[in-house]
Amino acid sequence: MIRLFNTLTRQKEEFKPISVDEVNIYSCGPTVYDFAHVGNLRAYIFADVLKRTLLYNKYKVRHIMNITDVGHLTGDRDMGRDKMEISAREQGKTAWEIASYYTDSFLNDIKELNIILPDKLPKATDHIKEMIALIEALEKKGFTYTTSDGIYFDTSKLKDYGKLAKLDIEGLKEGARVEANVEKKNPTDFALWKLSVPKGAHPELVEGSSKRQMEWQSPWGVGFPGWHIECSAMSTKYLGQPFDIHTGGVDHIPVHHTNEIAQSETAYDKPLANFWLHSEFVMIDEGRMGKSEGNLITLQELKDKGYSPLAYRYFALQGHYRSKLNFTFEALDGAQNALNNLYSTIAEYKEPKVGCAEFERQFLDAVNVNLDTPKALAVMWNMINSDYPGEAKLQSLFEFDKILGLSLKETWQELRRPLPDDIQKLVQQREDERQNNNWKKADELRKQIESAGFEIKDTDNGPLVKQKIS
Ligand code: AMP
Ligand code: ZN
Repeated sequence: MIRLFNTLTRQKEEFKPISVDEVNIYSCGPTVYDFAHVGNLRAYIFADVLKRTLLYNKYKVRHIMNITDVGHLTGDRDMGRDKMEISAREQGKTAWEIASYYTDSFLNDIKELNIILPDKLPKATDHIKEMIALIEALEKKGFTYTTSDGIYFDTSKLKDYGKLAKLDIEGLKEGARVEANVEKKNPTDFALWKLSVPKGAHPELVEGSSKRQMEWQSPWGVGFPGWHIECSAMSTKYLGQPFDIHTGGVDHIPVHHTNEIAQSETAYDKPLANFWLHSEFVMIDEGRMGKSEGNLITLQELKDKGYSPLAYRYFALQGHYRSKLNFTFEALDGAQNALNNLYSTIAEYKEPKVGCAEFERQFLDAVNVNLDTPKALAVMWNMINSDYPGEAKLQSLFEFDKILGLSLKETWQELRRPLPDDIQKLVQQREDERQNNNWKKADELRKQIESAGFEIKDTDNGPLVKQKIS
């Protein structure tokens, strides 16, 4: 039995899929205006652990993750400017080039983190037709109104608006005076379609929007979709409605997911998704990691500093997805050491044989109760430190890795493969030079070994040499 914390009910609930054998998951994907930072990547590692846990429990999984390549404004409540357009202007490229470049970079990041590629990664810009159809359905039902800058959803017409976030609507009304968009009827109303060139008025709305690159014809004029309508249109297109699980970061709860629910449930008179799962933030120096906070770290930066992407995955697994995770380089060093330790431990094990049933049960219990990866890692280390034979431990580790995704099998195969004689010779020569403090010569030998396609890591037990895993 799998139990998952559902943000809708604020409770751990038994997970039961809509269809017997297949689970449908939709994950809000990246906004491709810049490199993903490692905080963003945590959200996708979490979704990957969820998916792997369901696969481990023998479900088939259909996983959709969108690519937001238009319409995500700098402010979640329809304020500010389109992040894609800003980035294009800053970098002197077209918005399409920006989208393509950062999508590729994101795909590379998730590959390096062993995140199983979603079955589909639909782009918002390829689904404008579906979004327009959805807005028309809402218009027909009388839930929309026009302002000088677009078409808005009237949230006051919904009795249960804000149920996901348990929004304090009265409190929001109080705060409405600070809203710049005075044309909105209610502070929680949100844009479904924005016009490229607003009719008249507000300088905040006109600024920067007059020369948009990404815009489309619509029944309401030339413009672009709101961020929320994108996910409503794409999730329903690929998964139907309702589908099983919707994931995202906690910041999506009060606005983005609240508005997805409002639109989709109004349009089709049925729930959008049964389970809503949200991952917490990665923090740095006690603040949220983010672009506007100016404290972000990318996976590339970690690699440049010598960390392996899977050390970051290990680091993320050490925290529960519903807890904030404090990023420090000391903690990442700890994760890298633990991972290296794990690799050098498994290198000692011979062929896998009948696993450790007792620990496999404990591991499954840990992940099946709301994806408790810190507990699962603890079970793994308890097993490694137990008296079971190495072959049994290896068998179970390969099972665990179906969820952990730390490349244990591939690494074990690489580590156990005998080194070619010429490489063995170079490694030995390098060791001799190191013993004699000839660091320059040792360094040259390292480079020679590396250019032959091998990685060399110095451990307390001597050098660990393995073929590079591409
Ligand atoms: P974005 O590309 O800005 O649309 O965000 C992608 C994902 O990253 C969303 O699911 C956000 O909730 C999540 N996210 C943003 N900042 C952080 C952070 N500091 N830690 C964890 N997740 C984050
Ligand atoms: Zn979304």
